[in-house]
Amino acid sequence: MTVVRWAPSPTGRIHLGNARPALLNWFYARRHGGTYILRMDDTDHARSTREFADGIERDLAWLGITPDLLVRQSDRTALHDAARTRLIAAGRLYPCYETEEELDRKRARARLLNKPPIYDRSALSLTAEDRARLEAEGRKPHWRFRLDGRPVHFEDLIKGPQTVNTASMSDPVLVREDGSYLYTLPSVVDDIDLGITHVIRGEDHVSNTGTQIEIFEALGGAVPTFGHHNLLTDAEGQGFSKRLGSQSISDFRDQGYEPMAIAIMASLTGTSLPIETYETLDEIANRLDFSMVSHGAARFDPAELDSLNARVLHALPYEGAAARLSAMGLEGEAMWLLLRDNLRKFADIAEWAKLVTGPIEPVMADEDRDFLALAKAMLPPEPWDETTWSQWTDALKSATGRKGKALFLPLRLALTGRHDGPELKSLLPLVGRKACLDRLP
Ligand code: GLU
Repeated sequence: MTVVRWAPSPTGRIHLGNARPALLNWFYARRHGGTYILRMDDTDHARSTREFADGIERDLAWLGITPDLLVRQSDRTALHDAARTRLIAAGRLYPCYETEEELDRKRARARLLNKPPIYDRSALSLTAEDRARLEAEGRKPHWRFRLDGRPVHFEDLIKGPQTVNTASMSDPVLVREDGSYLYTLPSVVDDIDLGITHVIRGEDHVSNTGTQIEIFEALGGAVPTFGHHNLLTDAEGQGFSKRLGSQSISDFRDQGYEPMAIAIMASLTGTSLPIETYETLDEIANRLDFSMVSHGAARFDPAELDSLNARVLHALPYEGAAARLSAMGLEGEAMWLLLRDNLRKFADIAEWAKLVTGPIEPVMADEDRDFLALAKAMLPPEPWDETTWSQWTDALKSATGRKGKALFLPLRLALTGRHDGPELKSLLPLVGRKACLDRLP
């Protein structure tokens, strides 16, 4: 049984870098017939909002992911509190009273003595009287987890064997002065409670994993398998930031990109699976083995997104386009198959469809007027099919001696108003004789 979760913090709109673990978890679940949980890590009351959470759900659906279950950490405080009580009873969670300034001074002193700036655990030696005195001064405790301080080994699904030495880390704060939880403890508690078997997330969490494995063990929970993927960076090599606001998934949606193109760029950049079109996310799930995820950075290339977006559209079957076409008042499989190769964004179809439906602005040079008038007179009778174009142009070639560009370009310019575009032999039957007559002088 495979159970994964994607656990975004709803403190902003998600970007490509957030979509990466969302998708990699999805692929893993699909490949192994597992369960996918969307978990809102919303314990940071000051920064999490319902609006951001709803936006994340919308973006995920747009990308083509349908979670089996949605949970919100804010609904699970009782579980977190129970774990906190147990850790306190076991002597693993202890109250500390230092202010930020006091901690800064301690760190500065450690640096002067050439020691690592690790928390000195002085709060561990506070007596009950010390605590009572500090609390009488109005201080409220924050709570630290007492690390084992040992090398924690784990076999990473993506990066291979890993060791995090918790002896070189400060005991992490799990509970703030105001009683609210930082991400670390609720994440472990919920992973245990939800039966998470695989935690797939960015490699910025590797050292958290050392801490969290100790918390799993302290709570007697089954330690999941971890997989840390390389992080996506923007074209300049910088990490994406939720607060930047640009290049969010919803920005890409508003700019008219295809969800499949965004999903492919977010997940396959920095892997050895080629960036090309895939019909479904399941096809990627079946082909992407985590050994293909590179260990180096994954740099997002906007030009590659543009080119991929076009290729996704060029391969999009009519069934995938029909509903969106009909929302634009367009229909017809033959029209779609003929015109899709010209699209860079889906919305471009409105302009291209005018080649079929009109109106178009015919372009004709004065020296071609007589030729075009003759062409009009020689337009074959209906019914039309894909051979009509060559019948017509062969006859015109015999009648006028024109050939090549001199023969074809004036016809294309008159019939479509442009130099480039779809094959005229396929376009002609879609336009029909009457409309062609109207476009010729
Ligand atoms: N809320 C955490 C984050 O967004 C989740 C990390 C994890 O997957 O455990 O970084």
